Amino acid sequence: MRKRLFKRKIHYTYNPETAKYEPQPFSYRRLLVQIGSHSIAGILTGLLFFAIFVFTFNTPSERSLRNENIALQAQYNVLQNRLDAYQGVLSDIQSRDNNMYRVLLHTDSLPTSVRKGSLSPARYESLLRSTNSQLAVEMTEQTDIIAKELYVQSKSFDELGQLAMQKEKMLRCIPAIQPVLNKDLRLITSGFGVRIDPVYKTARFHAGMDFSAPQDTKVFATGDGVITFVGWDQGLGNTVIIDHGFGYESVYAHLDNTKERKGVKVRRGDVIGAVGESGKATGYHLHYEVHYKGTPVNPINYFFMDLSPKEYDKMILQSNRMGETLD
Ligand SMILES: [Zn+2]
Repeated sequence: MRKRLFKRKIHYTYNPETAKYEPQPFSYRRLLVQIGSHSIAGILTGLLFFAIFVFTFNTPSERSLRNENIALQAQYNVLQNRLDAYQGVLSDIQSRDNNMYRVLLHTDSLPTSVRKGSLSPARYESLLRSTNSQLAVEMTEQTDIIAKELYVQSKSFDELGQLAMQKEKMLRCIPAIQPVLNKDLRLITSGFGVRIDPVYKTARFHAGMDFSAPQDTKVFATGDGVITFVGWDQGLGNTVIIDHGFGYESVYAHLDNTKERKGVKVRRGDVIGAVGESGKATGYHLHYEVHYKGTPVNPINYFFMDLSPKEYDKMILQSNRMGETLD
């Protein structure tokens, strides 16, 4: 028996006159209305499910964008870590520069204001309008800071390089050895400071050191320089003065003789005369002075090149004795 798959629905409407539900004849209009209402319901349901799907699951393009975002974020983190590392290395260099190189070369450390400088906020205004603006501004600012600090740092090294070269020359020039050899030295009779005057027997400032040594013992230039005085001084007798530059001068007095002439360049260790007792002196000795910027300083601090620590201690001990000077 053939079954009817679709059975036409019979519509009933209530007839108040007969007080009965009566079957309605078939109408295409009603059929169309029915189809229309079903379709609208279907579309609405479809839209609802579509919305749920879109908000719950990602489309392939969204998924790829999200992955790209994650990758960019990871890359940003790597860059950020690298910038932090560079900043750390730079800070180390700056600290070494200020606390070691600049101290060694006797020059002022660079203040933070010079190192960091200042960056104009206007520089980043255009970046603020771009997407991910905050990230872009931060990274650009940080790279700018590092670039600026690196520039200042390299300038600082240039300056220190020049100072180091000058320092090398300075080290050759400043008085740094004893003016007479240790083997020729009898003793250091008197040091720098207030001592008893050998002639007047009163306490007087002694502006140098007296090296007691036999007559004609060689006297050496204690640093490179130019001879600026050769001649007689009422108190000091035959005297040679060397200008070493950098504010330093050395004075060699009571010399027996000297063949030096004014204006002659000398090197450290050159013989510039011989020990005598000319001028106001009581016995053969060399009276030796070191001047820095026109003021006599204790020569004991300028023998650092040729004394062992033990010899240096001995010299300090001898030179601190209060005894009479040989003048
Ligand atoms: Zn003296």
